[in-house]
Amino acid sequence: MPDEYDGIILGTGHNSLVLQAYMARSGLRVLAVDRAPAPGGGLATIENPRVPGFRHNTHSFFHRALTSMPWYRDLELERHGARYIEPELNVALILPDGRSLEWWTNFEKTAESFGEFSQRDAATLRRWVEEFRPIVERILIPEAQPPPLPPEQRQELLGRSRLGRRLLEVAALSPLEFVVREFEHDVVRAGLLFFNGLREIDLRLRGFGHSIPALLAGRHMAQMCLGGSANLAQALIKDIREHGSEVLTGLETERILFRRGRVAGIELAGGETIGAKAFVASGLNPQQTFLQLLEPDTVSSQVREKAATFQFNTLAPLFALNLALHEPPRFSGAQQRPELNKAFMVILGLERFAQFDEIVAAHERGRIPGTVMWGACPTLFDPSQAPPGKHTAFMWEKVPYALWGSPANWEIEKENHGKSLFNLLARFAPNLTPRAIIDSFVQSPVDTERTLPNMKFGDLLVGSFANNQVGYNRPFPGAGEYKTPIQGLYLCGGSTHPGGNITGLCGYNAARVLAAELRLPVWWNPPQLTVESI
Ligand SMILES: Cc1cc2nc3c(=O)[nH]c(=O)nc-3n(C[C@H](O)[C@H](O)[C@H](O)COP(=O)(O)OP(=O)(O)OC[C@H]3O[C@@H](n4cnc5c(N)ncnc54)[C@H](O)[C@@H]3O)c2cc1C
Repeated sequence: MPDEYDGIILGTGHNSLVLQAYMARSGLRVLAVDRAPAPGGGLATIENPRVPGFRHNTHSFFHRALTSMPWYRDLELERHGARYIEPELNVALILPDGRSLEWWTNFEKTAESFGEFSQRDAATLRRWVEEFRPIVERILIPEAQPPPLPPEQRQELLGRSRLGRRLLEVAALSPLEFVVREFEHDVVRAGLLFFNGLREIDLRLRGFGHSIPALLAGRHMAQMCLGGSANLAQALIKDIREHGSEVLTGLETERILFRRGRVAGIELAGGETIGAKAFVASGLNPQQTFLQLLEPDTVSSQVREKAATFQFNTLAPLFALNLALHEPPRFSGAQQRPELNKAFMVILGLERFAQFDEIVAAHERGRIPGTVMWGACPTLFDPSQAPPGKHTAFMWEKVPYALWGSPANWEIEKENHGKSLFNLLARFAPNLTPRAIIDSFVQSPVDTERTLPNMKFGDLLVGSFANNQVGYNRPFPGAGEYKTPIQGLYLCGGSTHPGGNITGLCGYNAARVLAAELRLPVWWNPPQLTVESI
């Protein structure tokens, strides 16, 4: 390994890899280092060590609209082997009586499904999709793809167009207020909130009322990476290597080096140092970056204070049950609706709007709600993830991090809780008797934090989407444009705009900022939100 690069990136989460790929294509020699044994962070697919041939996606699986991301095209990821599918019955909320509320890639079928519960709600759905589609396409998508505007400038820009004013009006509501005001049926309300709550926005928070119509109006839905989520990381790495840069894993970064008023490289555990001529970018969270890796005297007290008070979502990290199976789940509801056995994401146990209050109240008391879960059987769509004729499946539940007051209690409870998730699944899919299971394992929020320490408290969004931590102010005011107050140090992970989940846009936007700072040619075509475009 050379002792100096043009740039060093901390972490090999997908945002880091996206940034690295743009920098490598811009002619820089860049190293990305990760403490984990495999690259990709939340793009993890592991082979089951007890039953070879079964591949489990232990973190992200549902990659929303991934193939429409600008970097997917710019970096020619299909040439590097990435392949995505978007199953038609994309989401099914299956009720105990066998009915289901369904989201299809074909909007007419979605509207029909809503109509089976309420004709009025189906008409409302149509109206919102029609009204919000131009808002999504002309404002929300282009706004997520460049670095964010300062809030006053954004407000002023949006205020100058009819679409922008409408967006501001709807956003002023909370998702909860939006759903209660617009939809009438209990199941529809519950389904819409859950669909939205999956993305971890606090449903009670004003400022996010637009998130539900935006999700409904998006042209693409959840997609899956063939071969497993890690294949996306592998495709990114192929591009990075093809352009002369390196990705190294199993290396713990001890310190970010600081010399003559700017960052100058990193020191690895063991004392080896690697220089960075032009930049260091961190795909880690702001507490790791500013408080753990930089010496205190190189960071101002204001920045240390802002990093220390950066908020993580503590209410709803995920618990996961991973299964290796002899056969796929066969839902009893499929006797009436055979399509259900081909649903991509299934939501089970949710039937009433009031369950939200119950779930939030349980989380706040450190209790497991134990009622609602969602997941998929990836091998229904991609048999390569299990031996011939066999299957994998997983189920997730939102649970509190501090179980009964302490995260340590997960070690006591997690195996038990895995069994109760399985029992709930088997109530909906009675073919899943214990004899159908070849192997299983669970992951608690503490396991998430252990494998990906940037997800403190198991927070999969790497920082909450509270009003003071979004857009220009993510992760905090003064570091919201991927550039930090420390010379030569940049941010590129899910703690920056537009936030966690597999979007790659944090890394994509950071690339634009770095290209401008380092005066590199911008060979790609990043969008800009202008009054003319909206
Ligand atoms: C159980 C689970 C399910 C999820 N499901 C979905 C889903 O279906 N769809 C979706 O869009 N999102 C999902 N997510 C969220 C998604 O995985 C994350 O939001 C996303 O991975 C964040 O990307 P990132 O680029 O910020 O970095 P990450 O993917 O978090 O990667 C960060 C990298 O930094 C490394 N690192 C951490 N600390 C250090 C250190 N000190 N030194 C060096 N390296 C370090 C880690 O090893 C890791 O490789 C899920 C997350 C979890 C936990």
